[in-house]
Amino acid sequence: MSQGTCSKKLAQRSRSTADPARVLARLLLPATCVGCGLLLREAAPPLPLCTACAPEAVPLPAAARAQDGIGALFAYEGPLRSAVTRLKFGGQPALAGPLGRLLGGAPELERGPWDLLAPIPLHRSRALARGYDQAALLALWLHRSWPAGPRPRLAPRLLRRTRATAPQTDLDRRARAKNLRRAFVARAPKEAIAGRRILLIDDVTTTGATLAAGRAALYAAGAAEVVGLALLRALP
Ligand SMILES: [Zn+2]
Repeated sequence: MSQGTCSKKLAQRSRSTADPARVLARLLLPATCVGCGLLLREAAPPLPLCTACAPEAVPLPAAARAQDGIGALFAYEGPLRSAVTRLKFGGQPALAGPLGRLLGGAPELERGPWDLLAPIPLHRSRALARGYDQAALLALWLHRSWPAGPRPRLAPRLLRRTRATAPQTDLDRRARAKNLRRAFVARAPKEAIAGRRILLIDDVTTTGATLAAGRAALYAAGAAEVVGLALLRALP
């Protein structure tokens, strides 16, 4: 390295370390790989994975990225699957920050302006047992880090789950759709929903039945357009 480059790098480094807000942010919120927990160099990297985990993440092929009004970014595999599992079942709500920011890269955001950003809600009993609702946290962090353009209003209580549906895991596509029929109703007054363009967030989509049921409830309440967006899609 020539001396010029070296001193330039040093100057850059001292500039970045001298910014107290950045230093504080790094100390308080060190960025870690959501796959393995390794400390990352960048404070808020677009892909929150270390160099070992990043190649294991599987971006969805074009044909699987957006289907029937529901977009997703990555396959339900590898380090991102592990991160979402720990977010949901491992009591690690802090993972919602980097995973929610990751949703900021979805092409659906550019189809705005969106009026409302809403999560698929957990049933109250399940949210109480877990202590938080992971899709609501993902929507919150996506909202906080909204990348560009007019930011929609965050509407965490737009939908209500009418009953605790049976776990979807063991059901086939038709059974899932039946399990979820009328599982959601719009909770917000009709005036808040009528004519609005709504982006609906969930962590994982498999057959799309959950997001489809949420979209149907919002369309029934008069929404102009509802697009579902999940971080991961389980491939058949
Ligand atoms: Zn890692």
